[in-house]
Amino acid sequence: MDSASPPAAIRRLGQNFLVDPNIVRKIVALAELSSADTVLEIGPGRGFLTEALCRAAGHITAIEVDPRLHTFLAERTAHLANLTLLLGDALTCSIEHLPIGTIVVANLPYYISTPLLFRLLSQGNRFARMVLMLQNEVADRLIAKPGSSDYGVLSVMAQYSANISKAFKVSPQCFRPRPEVDSAVVLLHALEPRVRHPEAERRFTTLVRAAFAHRRKTLVNSLRNEGYDSKLVETALATLHLPPSLRAETLPLEQFLELARCMEDVT
Ligand code: SAM
Repeated sequence: MDSASPPAAIRRLGQNFLVDPNIVRKIVALAELSSADTVLEIGPGRGFLTEALCRAAGHITAIEVDPRLHTFLAERTAHLANLTLLLGDALTCSIEHLPIGTIVVANLPYYISTPLLFRLLSQGNRFARMVLMLQNEVADRLIAKPGSSDYGVLSVMAQYSANISKAFKVSPQCFRPRPEVDSAVVLLHALEPRVRHPEAERRFTTLVRAAFAHRRKTLVNSLRNEGYDSKLVETALATLHLPPSLRAETLPLEQFLELARCMEDVT
């Protein structure tokens, strides 16, 4: 490989590189960066977004899993004093050293966008604000309301952790190679945890996952199939004046929280 030319894209690593400067500008503007800000970028790729971030923020840490791109980018960005380029897997490498209030700005690798979202959202106020490019379908699940077919575990847990809005859609034309799906940029603002104790928060997450594990069943049956005592669930629903025929997909976040609290009182 010629050291000046970028390595070819590997699709299985979600390598769809942004080539539209207008989209890069819109992403950076949405992040409202200043020279006092620290940014985490996941998957800098060929560095198109990274370079714009380096101009707008104080310090950028960028984590890239592909050693070829890491080498390419290290050479191309050697002049950027405010960039720390790390070779690693964003799902597992340490992010706990990043300062509280770090802003995440990334065009995420779509094949792992959901586990990455869960990891980022679980960091509380470390990531105060996130501007993320995702598949449009995942963006719709993030903002889905009860009663819609997009509403599920990701919607409840993401809305529990953050205020989320879909900022704008992005067409496949803006990438090379072009992805097979539409994309969207979302803005997330971290919220204070409403379940204070980490163990109670883990139980809440387990309850939400179990509630959606069998989408076609009632909430009581889905939870029973996942090992919950159906009498306890029915008692909790009755206490909350909710019908036993209820399905998880109709239950708003606030009622999931009430159900979790009520079940812990009962057990
Ligand atoms: N930021 C660049 C852009 O906007 O053009 C590239 C975005 S591309 C959609 C996703 C990037 O994430 C690729 O560079 C890919 O190699 C990288 N990537 C894939 N899996 C990763 C992982 N587990 N950890 C860190 N980076 C990853």
